[in-house]
Amino acid sequence: MTMRVYHTQQRKILIDFLQKNRDKAFTIEEILNSIGDSGISQSTAYRLVTKLCVDGIVKRSAKNTGRSFVYQYINTEKCEGHLHMKCTGCGKIYHLDSGITSTIQNDIKSSTNFEIDSHTVLLGKCNTCKE
Ligand SMILES: [Zn+2]
Ligand SMILES: [Zn+2]
Repeated sequence: MTMRVYHTQQRKILIDFLQKNRDKAFTIEEILNSIGDSGISQSTAYRLVTKLCVDGIVKRSAKNTGRSFVYQYINTEKCEGHLHMKCTGCGKIYHLDSGITSTIQNDIKSSTNFEIDSHTVLLGKCNTCKE
């Protein structure tokens, strides 16, 4: 029981951190380094963050060669109705403006009659990874 409460607090620390830095994607090591002395072990952090991915509030992406993963706070409930772009370099996910989303969807629909699913993720390189 004590263990469960402990994990709830650790879970909250991780959510708070990722939520506050939702415009960035982090490896587990980076998360732990950034939150400082939290007492969360790497294996616990890994388990808790994996659970957050299952719960749909954090997204996991492969970084570069796909050998390491980065995690980013993406609340899927609030992400209905717009497309996302994912950088294949750093793994960071960008939310597309809903206006741009409907422009893209409408343009494609009117020229090809194809309806793009709003869960579509556009892959590419972000400004930092372009060079
Ligand atoms: Zn979104
Ligand atoms: Zn990038």
